[in-house]
Amino acid sequence: MRFQSRHATPPGGVYFFALDGDFVESRSSATICLLVKDLYRKQGRQPPFDPLSVVMTHMCKSMPDGFCTEPTGMTGANVSTIKERTRALFRLPIAEPVVIRERLHVCLACPENSRSVCPACSGLLDWVLSHMSSRTRIPADEFAYVCGPAQVFVSALVTAEDPGPPPDGCPETCWRCYGKRN
Ligand code: SF4
Repeated sequence: MRFQSRHATPPGGVYFFALDGDFVESRSSATICLLVKDLYRKQGRQPPFDPLSVVMTHMCKSMPDGFCTEPTGMTGANVSTIKERTRALFRLPIAEPVVIRERLHVCLACPENSRSVCPACSGLLDWVLSHMSSRTRIPADEFAYVCGPAQVFVSALVTAEDPGPPPDGCPETCWRCYGKRN
């Protein structure tokens, strides 16, 4: 899968790519190609002949429908809704690290942890964590996606001490429902 046009600027204006946990991004297509080649070399691998092609393939998983050569299931509206709802959590006090960790593990086992957008793959996880005070990245964040009923990035949701009442559609096993349905 690739962009409809090789010269198209992606929504948000940033090109990004991840390889085995390393992440690079740039607002320039020429620069991202150099960064991707460096990333492959750093990991002892042969750089791709066409780095922009691997960037496009990587990015298309989280691009809005119509931007790439195949449907992605994403719409511009739902990505921006998720970002806006996530942004609203940034001003809230954050939970204790042990609570964050426990919540994350509940989310990881939840069928509503929707892979519609991959924050870690797209660089949005760094955006989330950088806006949430002293929150540090933990391995479980790599597998936390979007809470389907809340339409919010899971890593932000578990970090807010009190994100509010659970929305409709949260399963009984959701940590947001503890003590709220008895
Ligand atoms: S419904 Fe609850 S447990 Fe499931 S992903 Fe959303 S916040 Fe996590």
